Amino acid sequence: MNMEGKLCGICDKGRLHAYKDEITDGIYVDAYKCDFDPDHVSYTAEVMHKVEAIQRSTSVERHLVKVGSSVAAPIPSAIVKALRLKPRGRVFISAQGRRIIIRPAPS
Ligand SMILES: [Zn+2]
Repeated sequence: MNMEGKLCGICDKGRLHAYKDEITDGIYVDAYKCDFDPDHVSYTAEVMHKVEAIQRSTSVERHLVKVGSSVAAPIPSAIVKALRLKPRGRVFISAQGRRIIIRPAPS
C-alpha cells in the first residue's frame, strides 16, 4: 500500500512522504514521514510487522516506569553485566531521531 501524500494519522495535519527509516544499525525499511512534524513516522501494516520482528530479535522490550516527572526504562541484567553498570552510575542520554542513546559516563 502506498501512503505517499496521505494525511498523517498521528496529527491529522501533515502529509506523509516516503523515505527509508533506519530501524537498527544498517537496516532500512520503507517508511513515511509527516511534513508537519518529522517525528511522526508511519509504516504500512506489512512493514510494521517486519519492524516489530526485527526489533524483537535485536532488542529487549521493557515498559517505562514513572520516576517523578520523568520516565525510566529498566536496563536488562545482561546489559548491566556486559557494560558493568552500577546503581547510581552516571550515563549520558540523547535522542537521535526516534532512537534513545544511553552511553555510560567514562569511569
Ligand atoms: Zn503528523
